Amino acid sequence: MKKLIGLLLVLLLVFAACSNEVGEDDGGYVAVTAPEESPEEVPTPKELPEVEDIEVIEEEPVRIQRPDAEPTMVIALTIDDGPFSYTYRLLDILEEYDVRATFFVIGRHVQNQQEQARLIHEAGHELANHSWAHNNMGSADPDLIRTELEDTSAAIREITGEDPIFFRAPNLNYGANLTEVTTELGLPIIGADAIGQDWNDIAPDRIAANVVNAATDGGIILLHEQFSASTLRTKEALPLIFGELWNAGFEIITLGELVERRGVELQPGVLYNRIG
Ligand SMILES: [Zn+2]
Repeated sequence: MKKLIGLLLVLLLVFAACSNEVGEDDGGYVAVTAPEESPEEVPTPKELPEVEDIEVIEEEPVRIQRPDAEPTMVIALTIDDGPFSYTYRLLDILEEYDVRATFFVIGRHVQNQQEQARLIHEAGHELANHSWAHNNMGSADPDLIRTELEDTSAAIREITGEDPIFFRAPNLNYGANLTEVTTELGLPIIGADAIGQDWNDIAPDRIAANVVNAATDGGIILLHEQFSASTLRTKEALPLIFGELWNAGFEIITLGELVERRGVELQPGVLYNRIG
């Protein structure tokens, strides 16, 4: 054992000597060493204030106001992938700011969260078809697409009493089979052009910037309630989006309202990223 420790010590010394050599013979490069810490500047735990000494200042959330000026542009707000048990959180925010949105809901989620789906409808928002199970449908079997869309419309009809009139493809994945079936079922395909990218792990102000920077008159905002963490971020992003868009002269409305105000008739099977 002693021999082994001795051997290790020798190896360490040789290594240290080699390191120095490299440092000294390094062609004029100055070896960078970590700055020495000055221990006197580091507060000891005793010097830290007691918890009760800290005055907690409750920050008032910035209340965003609608400007007095009449809006000059319109944009639709759409929120995908719900409903979930926590959908009411988004509904509370929308209620607080008096904004109505179009919820592209997943059929099986509607079946599992009928109460939340009902809350969406009762708050004056719109329910639209986002497939039954959120699988890519561009090139899926036409019979499967038809079943998914019809079952979802039936689940929505149970809540609202009416068939949904808009469809959005899961993951915005398109293809000939989807075009064929949506044409047959009389559903236009709704895309988006102001996409928050809130499925990524990004801060609320980044989500808001993604939307605001892409906002156009007649555009369609896409946000999600799919992931619980993202729901919190999306919830925080909403007031930022409202404030910025209102100040820029936008009115934020549902897709149905946007189509009505534009006075256009959407064609089944056709993709709309905005209502121009
Ligand atoms: Zn989706």
